[in-house]
Amino acid sequence: MIDPATLDAAAVEAWLREEAPPRLEALRASAEAHLLREIGPVVYLRGLVEISNHCKRACLYCGLRAGRRITRYRMSHAEILACAAEIERRGYGTMVIQAGEDPALDVEWVRDLIAATRARHDLAITLSLGERPDADLRVWREAGADRYLLRFESSRPALFDRLHPAHPEGQDRLAQLRSMAAMGYQIGSGMLVGAPGQTYADLVRDILILRELELHMIGLGPWVAHPETPLGRDPHAFEAAVDQVPASEAMTLKVLALARHMRPRAHIPSTTALATINRRQGRAHGLHWGANVVMPNITPLQYRRDYEIYPAKGRVEVARAETEAEIRANIQALGRRVGLGKGHAR
Ligand code: SAM
Ligand code: SF4
Repeated sequence: MIDPATLDAAAVEAWLREEAPPRLEALRASAEAHLLREIGPVVYLRGLVEISNHCKRACLYCGLRAGRRITRYRMSHAEILACAAEIERRGYGTMVIQAGEDPALDVEWVRDLIAATRARHDLAITLSLGERPDADLRVWREAGADRYLLRFESSRPALFDRLHPAHPEGQDRLAQLRSMAAMGYQIGSGMLVGAPGQTYADLVRDILILRELELHMIGLGPWVAHPETPLGRDPHAFEAAVDQVPASEAMTLKVLALARHMRPRAHIPSTTALATINRRQGRAHGLHWGANVVMPNITPLQYRRDYEIYPAKGRVEVARAETEAEIRANIQALGRRVGLGKGHAR
């Protein structure tokens, strides 16, 4: 087992550049050993509900960016509560509420949704609603939200700023994560692997920050090109001049294993982006390389096709039942079992 304390910047970079199969197997096995020791052979399922695809931001990688002409939707409280009932029926302990940065999801609207969910269902609530002022976050925490996911995407300010065109209300994501932790949220964050412009030095810093932030959850995945976004249309215009990190499955799996060493007890999903770049085995590979969470998509089908952050996402999740069966089979094939209960961070 690799001792996480030995993983300084030089060691992390050496692992990112490693290509020898026996060495990579040692990294994978060590990540799995840390996972089994700290969490056990358990995979938690969280029901993901994509409640709105309206967004005021224009992140260069994302298909929901403001200004794109797509069919926009916003689910009603009643529709979201029906999803909560479905999540509870399936025995998942958590509802993850995700959306674009939609100004119509104001502080009261979200507070009332959290309160109604809490009153009717025995579910943990994770929010992923983008950058928000502390005042809103405090109200939602008091209403019963347990966790918040906000990726820092890149810890190099110049790259973050390039990927996220200036917005008057933009705020420092690392600062938001720290204040949410102080409010008692379990906090989750992470980065895009291989976004055009990301160098090895950037990715090393991103990985070390996972430990510094003392994250309870880590969300990371490969950048997937969306041809109708600036990055997808012309990735070479943005690519780092030297040392561009590839947005490959192999690189993402190394980063997952390193993230597991940075935070051995963190909840780490095997993301849909990974399942998108390797349709057949991406999800299972993520679990094999240190992930312990899967987030089945519960968004009603009529909305799901419009939450197209990258193409082909819809195809990974065409039929709910099929996805559920595939996910459970993957978990069993790996010798793991589905975790019961809410699966709070330890
Ligand atoms: N609007 C919120 C936010 O940005 O935090 C939540 C929704 S956003 C669609 C969720 C995540 O999708 C982002 O953190 C981003 O990393 C990821 N994402 C967006 N476009 C992507 C792409 N082209 N490839 C991979 N991941 C992408
Ligand atoms: Fe909006 Fe999030 Fe997409 Fe950025 S990543 S455009 S904030 S939905």
